[in-house]
Amino acid sequence: MLDEQRLKILTESAKYDVSCSSSGSDRRNTAKGTGNAAMCGICHSFTQDGRCVSLLKILLSNRCVYDCLYCVNRRSNDVPRASASPDEICRLVMSFYRRNYIEGLFLSSAIEKSPDHTMELLLETVVRLRKLYGFNGYIHLKGIPGADELMLKRAGGYVDRMSFNIELPSEKSLKLLAPQKSKKAILTPMSDMAAEYVAAKAEKNKLFLPAGQTTQMIVGASPEHDGAIIRLTEGLYKKFALKRVYFSSYVPTNTNTDLLPTAPVGLLREHRLYQADWLLRFYGFSASEILSENEDLDVTVDPKCAWALKHMEQFPVEVNSAPPEMLVRVPGIGFITANKIVRARKFSRLDFNDLYKMRVVMKRAVHFITCNGKFSGQPHLQSVKNLLVLAENSTNAVQLSMFSSPEISTSVIGGQL
Ligand code: SF4
Repeated sequence: MLDEQRLKILTESAKYDVSCSSSGSDRRNTAKGTGNAAMCGICHSFTQDGRCVSLLKILLSNRCVYDCLYCVNRRSNDVPRASASPDEICRLVMSFYRRNYIEGLFLSSAIEKSPDHTMELLLETVVRLRKLYGFNGYIHLKGIPGADELMLKRAGGYVDRMSFNIELPSEKSLKLLAPQKSKKAILTPMSDMAAEYVAAKAEKNKLFLPAGQTTQMIVGASPEHDGAIIRLTEGLYKKFALKRVYFSSYVPTNTNTDLLPTAPVGLLREHRLYQADWLLRFYGFSASEILSENEDLDVTVDPKCAWALKHMEQFPVEVNSAPPEMLVRVPGIGFITANKIVRARKFSRLDFNDLYKMRVVMKRAVHFITCNGKFSGQPHLQSVKNLLVLAENSTNAVQLSMFSSPEISTSVIGGQL
């Protein structure tokens, strides 16, 4: 069994990986197995006091032969090192699962010896877990770029989700900060897995990556603007059928280089990128509408408000007749609310009171809509912006609650804009 010291090293080394928030995988336990994979998400389940529960997030090894400048586990760093065997990880998972400590596993590894050697150990771990230990819970496996293609595809048949980290937003930055990595080595397995995933879906094969694949990129370690990051994100969704692109704001872990910023980037930039990502995935925006390549997202208002302020010529829209795709572009009207409006206006004309009852965020929406021809917002652009900034600040003061309605929750997380 893994001793406490190695367990501490291997779990601490994994903490910078953020690409593991939701399973999207739904599988009941089998007669001989142990565990369910739940659709509602495994790794980031938050308790009322904000604790994150449920996922064992661990590296198989933090002994790395690579030297990525931004990484605490890089070869040239003097940090405590440890490895675990596949069977040690399996026994740990089973013992934690049986004690109800976890509901799933997020398994990654530094590059020990070579990509093939590392991937072989990771594959052995997940095969053992499924076949020998009968573990039927959620598994998210980090794929190793550059490893043998057949091994990677085989792993896809045993785990719920796989991810290959894109790491940095451009090839130039990758060369500078992670010289042993290349864009091609990362995108090739991503593309292979996407093709397998699409084929498996067409054949109704539920065993191959039922929760799809994701990726993660570090934001702020390199000079790319948000506009370039959003464009890359859009391209990744389109080309590789990714479920999510995760952003990880840069935190300095190595001080012995002048190629990296010395201060952390902060969570606001990451938060804005997630909001922009939400616009791409659910609100019908394209990357070029949100931002040009050399721009950064406005920090004072969310990206949908920023877009609306730049396009005041498209507002106000009449809520009783606007097409749904325009309603969702109104600040303060989210996806769910727009659907409610479309359903309700079939039966009667809506007034401002109806909108309040439907939980439209009126302090935002009022400047962009008319209701039965009436406008109650501010006519001047600067006043509208000032009020939106105020509204934003008051929203951010709300404590995230586990028991909020889905619409309210997403507004705090960054989804409902
Ligand atoms: S490959 Fe790079 S990012 Fe991954 S553990 Fe090694 S040094 Fe860190």
